[in-house]
Amino acid sequence: MKDMAERDSWNILERPWLGASTHGGAWRLVSPLELLRTPREFRAIAASSPLDEFAALRFLTTLVYWKADVGGGIAQVRARLLQGGMPAEVVDAIAAERESFDLFDPERPFLQDSTIDGEADKPAGSLFAEVATGTNIAHFDHSRDLSSPLCLACVVRGMLRLVPWSQSGGAGLTPSVHGAPPIALLPRGASIAETLAGCLADSHLVLGVPTWTGTFHPSNPSAPVPLLEGLTWNPRRVRIPRPAEDAHCRLCGAFGPAVTRISFKKNDAVKKPEGGGEKLKSFDWRDPAFRYRPEKTEPIRSGDEKAAALSQDVRWLRDAQAGTAGAELVASAWSVVIPCTNPANNKTFDHRRVDVAAGTDLSKVRVEHHGGDGLSLAEHPLELGQPWRGGAAGRAAVERFVGAAAAALDETHWIALRRALGRPMHEEPEAFAIFSAIYWRVRSGGRSTLQRDAAWILLKLLALAPSSRRSTRCGRGLVEVLDAIPTRQAHRTRSDADGTSAYPIAPSRGLRLENQLAAVIEADLAAGRDIPWLELGTYLNHAAR
Ligand SMILES: [Zn+2]
Repeated sequence: MKDMAERDSWNILERPWLGASTHGGAWRLVSPLELLRTPREFRAIAASSPLDEFAALRFLTTLVYWKADVGGGIAQVRARLLQGGMPAEVVDAIAAERESFDLFDPERPFLQDSTIDGEADKPAGSLFAEVATGTNIAHFDHSRDLSSPLCLACVVRGMLRLVPWSQSGGAGLTPSVHGAPPIALLPRGASIAETLAGCLADSHLVLGVPTWTGTFHPSNPSAPVPLLEGLTWNPRRVRIPRPAEDAHCRLCGAFGPAVTRISFKKNDAVKKPEGGGEKLKSFDWRDPAFRYRPEKTEPIRSGDEKAAALSQDVRWLRDAQAGTAGAELVASAWSVVIPCTNPANNKTFDHRRVDVAAGTDLSKVRVEHHGGDGLSLAEHPLELGQPWRGGAAGRAAVERFVGAAAAALDETHWIALRRALGRPMHEEPEAFAIFSAIYWRVRSGGRSTLQRDAAWILLKLLALAPSSRRSTRCGRGLVEVLDAIPTRQAHRTRSDADGTSAYPIAPSRGLRLENQLAAVIEADLAAGRDIPWLELGTYLNHAAR
């Protein structure tokens, strides 16, 4: 064990677990107390998930709301933060409560319930939707579902997510106080001091008492939820055991004391009040970070996958009312945090963060998505199902190349090329020699040519066809061929008249594309369909780059 003391005490106010960026661009882990004492020194909370960024700021904000009185009240503390400083007496008052913030306190463990020790044994990854734990099916890797070691910093991040971001789930798991996670607005100042000032809203709500430990109980389910109660409303009961061994954290990779199993169960105390009827989806709670349509008690959330695909859901905020007035005055920019919340809990779209300047007309926000391969919607040659038109010069280049190959190669050459399908040039010297002879002959003319990689793929695909089927005079469109290739599109909505999906499309490239095209072409040839070689060549010229 690296640090024996970590078995006994892990104080989350004092331990550096919060990622923050400095004005110089450096990133480091800091403790909440350090951040609160010198908020002007840091530019922003820097977390890999916008959910964690929001949850961390929410935790800091809750601490400040809690002790703002000793600093002269919310308005006074906000004014001081805008000048760059936090009143020292506020941070001192928070630090004086350190006993409520120990992860392993035997009686009062932070955000945990000491009475459920050993019950409801679950993988530690249950704290995170993005960690596979056996019931979250939409993950690539399930090999470690049952034991996903998490470092203590990540455990804290996961526990802080429970209050604002809990989904409903199987086994009667209830969501957060506001129901399924809504779209949140985070003010962004030039420093964490300014950002915190922007987060502190002039709430009309009664302050109430925070619940830092034990089972959370609403103090009065039929009255508006007090502010500190809403900000620490925990829909789960959790108990984190002391780490038994060192391991690499599944999430952040840090090596050190790690937790693999936790106690994790629903909190029956936050079930909706009886008699509320089906329509009552959440408690009476207006959150400063969320937006509400006039006359509606439910915050605006994004459940429509198609709107999410184009960030049209951001525009829904435009005629919304703030949970409480005040924060708009100080923010120079906003981050819109959009959790993926398909009502069926099928996570097909990522959590998103969209940054907008203050005063931006949200109805005009347009976000371009980039796939993991860097391909954006606008770059995609098919433009959501439009016919593919390669340039005239490109078509002429393909025609010359195909014509030269047809004239020069005999069946033994084509057999060698067929054998090279799905393989790179350097692994196939015989096919490469044949390819080079054709390619350089065509290229030496000095006119526009096919890209080398595109020509290499096209020649091997041509080898699949008998000579009579290599004609470039074909009226068939390329879209039919490409449509047969699976793309990284989540779904095509059947009810759409045009059958297209708003999701960004990321088509394959390179060898993967070659193999997929080969399968489609073989099927088309067997069915007697013509292959649009010209269009295919111009498309490869684009896609092979
Ligand atoms: Zn970690």
